[in-house]
Amino acid sequence: MPRIAIIGAGPIGLEAALLARQLGHEVQVFEKGRVAENILDWGHIRLFSPFGMNSSEWGRGALARVFGRGALPREDELLTGLELAERYLIPMSQLVELEGRIHEQSQVRSINRRHFLKTAGIGSTARGAEPFQLLIEHRTDERVHLADVVLDCSGTYPHHNWVGDGGQPCVGERQTLTDAHYRLPVICEPEFGDRNVLVIGSGFSAATSVVALANLAKRHPHTKVMWLAKSQSGQGIAAGPITRVPNDPLIERDQLAAKANELAVVGHISRASSPESKANPVVWFADVAVASMTPTQTGHDVDGFHVELDWSVSQRLATDGENLPSRITVDRIIANVGYRPDRTIYEELHVHECYATQGPIKLAAKLLGESSSDCLAQASHGADVLKNPEPNFFILGSKSYGRNSNFLLRVGHQQIREVFEMLKGGKS
Ligand SMILES: Cc1cc2nc3c(=O)[nH]c(=O)nc-3n(C[C@H](O)[C@H](O)[C@H](O)COP(=O)(O)OP(=O)(O)OC[C@H]3O[C@@H](n4cnc5c(N)ncnc54)[C@H](O)[C@@H]3O)c2cc1C
Repeated sequence: MPRIAIIGAGPIGLEAALLARQLGHEVQVFEKGRVAENILDWGHIRLFSPFGMNSSEWGRGALARVFGRGALPREDELLTGLELAERYLIPMSQLVELEGRIHEQSQVRSINRRHFLKTAGIGSTARGAEPFQLLIEHRTDERVHLADVVLDCSGTYPHHNWVGDGGQPCVGERQTLTDAHYRLPVICEPEFGDRNVLVIGSGFSAATSVVALANLAKRHPHTKVMWLAKSQSGQGIAAGPITRVPNDPLIERDQLAAKANELAVVGHISRASSPESKANPVVWFADVAVASMTPTQTGHDVDGFHVELDWSVSQRLATDGENLPSRITVDRIIANVGYRPDRTIYEELHVHECYATQGPIKLAAKLLGESSSDCLAQASHGADVLKNPEPNFFILGSKSYGRNSNFLLRVGHQQIREVFEMLKGGKS
């Protein structure tokens, strides 16, 4: 049986480890933080997909055998990230099958083929016959772990995209924002109540932040939200920034999109009297880029930000352009601009990536060919698209989608099944 190393004890790494054990494989999981680290980071957010879609049949089966079916969430339950971790993922990590196999606080820094430089043995059987070497950092120690198969399930969160035009950092961004600005914060009174908050981003994460801030504004009416988000391609301003899925089966997702769009459209800047409009807590700056940002300080403490806006994009789109401010001052910034894969760990391996999404090329090509923007419509594309030029190295889970944010856990479970089928057939 091959020795399998799994990078990441998120939902996909854990499910893969459990199935590997059930099939009798030798497996070790390396996790840079805690089990379910990333999901716990946004634990206050409710998942759109129900528990039945967020869990595998082999995972539910194994937990039911130990704790009884009644201990599991109902398959139609909509759990928060914290609930998914506490009621499913953490208990799974404690199953006897995985005992002693999950190494927390163990970050994989690099993977290579033993004795082979990146430039050596390209496509040769000699290269493929050598084990992988994983450089593992555990607190202040480092060690090397050998494996025959590596499953990179290290996700994309929290390796964030950038705020600036075209996806590069705007002037001052790298000095002004910290990693925390790109996460999904708990929208609470002490931090955000009665503040001017700038939310940047055009996806569901930004919509989540905006709607939560608008709810906070009901109790703290001086809370103001300035939302920088693109209008939908080919749609007018009246459609709002968030794309709704026709007849969306995920009701919570559709309600969030509808609410966020309503707040945005009512507060669209050219219709609002000013960014301080009393009527709506949200002001929507459609199709504007951030040119630069700088912190404002009282003593040593950052207490706000000056942000320069570039309206040239919306002028190109011929948006109504009156009363448009070129500079705003805000108390808080939330940059929900998406996440991207950390590719540094497999730099010494042969991985053919898509130049647009940075996912593995065969899968990326399939995904780029899909027309639906609905992540529920995503299906797995078979074992072949998961193969890399480097035999026995697989990228699974959200990282396999690169910068494409449509990944669903349900697809990840299918990927796991397919990889183990392939390993059984010896065609990797
Ligand atoms: C706010 C939000 C809501 C979402 N809602 C849904 C939803 O409703 N339904 C759905 O199907 N999907 C949803 N997703 C998408 C996706 O399913 C999740 O992002 C999910 O967490 C992906 O699982 P994963 O195991 O691939 O990666 P992650 O959960 O990101 O896990 C990766 C793990 O790898 C670890 N790691 C990273 N680098 C290293 C390293 N070098 N060495 C060791 N360990 C490492 C991390 O610490 C982490 O524990 C949502 C995503 C977000 C951000």
